[in-house]
Amino acid sequence: MDNRKKNQSRPPRQSTPKKVGKGNACPLYKKCGGCQLQNMTYEEQLSFKQAKTIKYLGRFGHVEEIIGMEQPCHYRNKVQAAFGTTRGGKIISGVYQSSSHNIVLVDECMLEDKTADKIIVDIRNMLPKFKLTAYNEDMGKGFLRHVLVKRGFATGQVMVVLVTGSGIFPGKKDFLKALLKAHEEITTVIWNINSAKTSLVLGKREEILYGNGYIEDILCGKRFRISAKSFYQINPTQTEKLYGTAIEFASLTGKETVLDAYCGIGTIGLVAADKAKQVIGVELNEDAVRDAKINARLNSAGNIRFFCADAGRFMVGMAEEDEKVDVVFMDPPRAGSDIPFLKSIATLRPEKVVYVSCNVETQARDLAYLCKNGYKVKRIQPVDMFPHTNHVECVVSLVRK
Ligand code: SAH
Repeated sequence: MDNRKKNQSRPPRQSTPKKVGKGNACPLYKKCGGCQLQNMTYEEQLSFKQAKTIKYLGRFGHVEEIIGMEQPCHYRNKVQAAFGTTRGGKIISGVYQSSSHNIVLVDECMLEDKTADKIIVDIRNMLPKFKLTAYNEDMGKGFLRHVLVKRGFATGQVMVVLVTGSGIFPGKKDFLKALLKAHEEITTVIWNINSAKTSLVLGKREEILYGNGYIEDILCGKRFRISAKSFYQINPTQTEKLYGTAIEFASLTGKETVLDAYCGIGTIGLVAADKAKQVIGVELNEDAVRDAKINARLNSAGNIRFFCADAGRFMVGMAEEDEKVDVVFMDPPRAGSDIPFLKSIATLRPEKVVYVSCNVETQARDLAYLCKNGYKVKRIQPVDMFPHTNHVECVVSLVRK
């Protein structure tokens, strides 16, 4: 399947590969479809991802050895479960079977945080006692639709988001009391209402039922506030390696003006801020921008500003104003960047571009544009952010020709 270039295939960098996959695969492997590579040992998975990166990005230069994870299990700090009812009337929670709307019952998952899994199972078991039902998407009736749990691995803080189909929560106080009693580690509970016919988990309306409505985590020595709707990397152990690589590729000297595009809650920008003159962050999600601004204060970073805007439009504006940017970090969603953004890079002509991507296919497309428009690729470093799945994360640095 993968068109591996012989001269580039080296054994992946991995100190003590844990024996997972082959032989002790998850019983839900086929039904769930979340772990596409579970039929391989972890070493084989890394080789597969190395080959996939070479297939898409090998034409731009040498692909360095993928950075694997030492303990590639229970790495997910964010877990979400869909709720439903079997024909026999039993409430179940878990994941949607790939490309269908049937829920596969999940009690525990080898990728997910164990505490989060326990909280979800306990909520499921509590529902009948409180005469609460699971939501039925086809009928648009019932109560609990999803549960989302986020845990700060470094701080231990836990957020539980109860997503319901309607704005009525019978016995709310007692339910909350029982949940907090069963799980003292929970630091905040949010009630989110999502009555729309949508595949999105979270709706617009939310009410904080307990705590302050967010969690904090520590990454690369910085403290970050994370709201329910803000993006935060789901594998913090590997994120430190990912950001470390991105920062190393930028080789900042303290004099640069840096742009952190698609910045989320400002993580990359805040890590870079210590080593740059000033940083500008741009992000579309309002909640994430609000978190990013608070994160700047939390980390006493006075040289960083955040803007809520479409990254492409924002860049066009910067190019029109002829602003000076030395280094651009860009970390777009799976669909990649867009022409207005890439075109503006060609106009603004930053010395360096560091492109972090969770999809090497769209990254290859965008790199091709940049290489035709004044840049050349310098380094390519895949990082395994999502063990057992077929997703590949990759950091690429480009310099002006
Ligand atoms: N760099 C961050 C976030 C990466 S995820 C981190 O490492 O945590 C990609 C981010 O791009 C998300 O926060 C998403 O909300 C944002 N985004 C998606 N489309 C965008 C657009 N058109 N303009 C700006 N930001 C966008």
